[in-house]
Amino acid sequence: MKLAVIGTGYVGLVSGTCFAETGNQVTCVDIDESKINRLKSGKLTIYEPGLQVLFERNIKQERLLFTTNLEEAIKDAEIIFLALPTPPGEDGSADLSYVLGVAEQLGKMITDYKVIVDKSTVPVGTAERVHAAIAANAKTEFDVVSNPEFLREGVAVDDFMKPDRVVVGTSSDRAKKVMEKLYNPYVRQGNPVIFMDERSAEMTKYAANSYLATRISFMNEIANICELVGANVDFVRKGMGSDNRIGQRFLFAGVGYGGSCFPKDVQALERTANENKYEFNILSSVMKVNERQKVVMVDKIKSFYGEDLTGKHFAMWGLAFKPNTDDIREAPALYIINELLAAGATVATFDPEAMENVLEQYEGDDRVSFEENQYNALKNADALIIVTEWSVFRTPDFEKTFSIMKDRVIFDGRNVFDLEQMEELKTYYNSIGRQAVD
Ligand code: NAD
Repeated sequence: MKLAVIGTGYVGLVSGTCFAETGNQVTCVDIDESKINRLKSGKLTIYEPGLQVLFERNIKQERLLFTTNLEEAIKDAEIIFLALPTPPGEDGSADLSYVLGVAEQLGKMITDYKVIVDKSTVPVGTAERVHAAIAANAKTEFDVVSNPEFLREGVAVDDFMKPDRVVVGTSSDRAKKVMEKLYNPYVRQGNPVIFMDERSAEMTKYAANSYLATRISFMNEIANICELVGANVDFVRKGMGSDNRIGQRFLFAGVGYGGSCFPKDVQALERTANENKYEFNILSSVMKVNERQKVVMVDKIKSFYGEDLTGKHFAMWGLAFKPNTDDIREAPALYIINELLAAGATVATFDPEAMENVLEQYEGDDRVSFEENQYNALKNADALIIVTEWSVFRTPDFEKTFSIMKDRVIFDGRNVFDLEQMEELKTYYNSIGRQAVD
């Protein structure tokens, strides 16, 4: 099949590449010329495990093209995907200007039947608005389908190639057949393509992300209470998660959720509720808990050293909002750095993939440095702070670590080390939802 993907960011680039991998002819479009030039020259613009091989193969076999020319990209395409940003607007609702702006352009451009698929995360009712924006100018038949994307950064290629499920919202039999054919190769192991109406599909995405964010905030609250009552959240998680109704996954306490999706999607769903005069009490609390949790490490650091951190120097391992991605959007690390700087401290950071994306924010600020490896970041550090649980941080050379650091103090926002090991190493170790080792 011939496809066009509009918006070549995390979702557009992964979906475009993965659609090409099953034999489709895919053209990815973006307005960012430098991004397209980089992709055209065979270089990826994001870090995503497993993407490089597929990207190179499909470019070489001429199934994956990149352009800034929208009209050219969609001319022969049977299906057009919108993988455009939907950032939060000032009032927290999703900003639809990218999606609706492109829809309006498409209306003027399409000359034969197209299935126009919304992959961006958009509020209920957007498919109808996209339809209206296209119809205002279109001289041909078309269908608008809602097909929210559930891939997770860090495992996006696997998620896309073998999705737990594909959700397709459409009321058109013609579009349904096209979507069935497209997704067939991805659900050969029997995972479902779930067809429904557009509004339910749009709601499914927000409900899923908001539920996952709720699990995180819930576990963070349990962790905070564990600390107060002398319990260990690791045991509690295992004990809880063994109940089939709960399940083991997504129950890890930490420094709060970040990324480009959970914060904005939870906010947008709350906004939708408010617009419909419904008070979504749980979501308001989920957000409040997350705000507090993002800086819980700073509270711990301040209760150890005092409010004024002038003269203190910290090593920070991890900047990305989670491991295996270079994405730093809404990353808790950035909130923590800013709080530490505000209290007078300096920070030396290391992240395996995300440093380049953070550099710009601290350009010219000599209070923050970006180091070549995790050990360089430890030089003269009063304490180590772990914010992202990259595998490479899990089993460091402790002898080397403590020989470089000024003091044996670790604040661990991801519970990557064993308490017993920390006791043996005679380290002050403060983690989440577990008693501090002194
Ligand atoms: P992104 O910011 O990484 O990518 C969006 C791209 O669209 C950018 O490259 C931008 O230059 C381009 N763009 C903007 N205006 C354009 C235009 N007029 N024409 C062509 N290109 C244009 O965003 P993303 O993370 O890929 O997210 C896209 C959507 O998918 C959002 O709605 C998001 O909520 C949703 N989503 C994201 C993820 C994720 O993990 N990142 C997962 C599921 C769903």
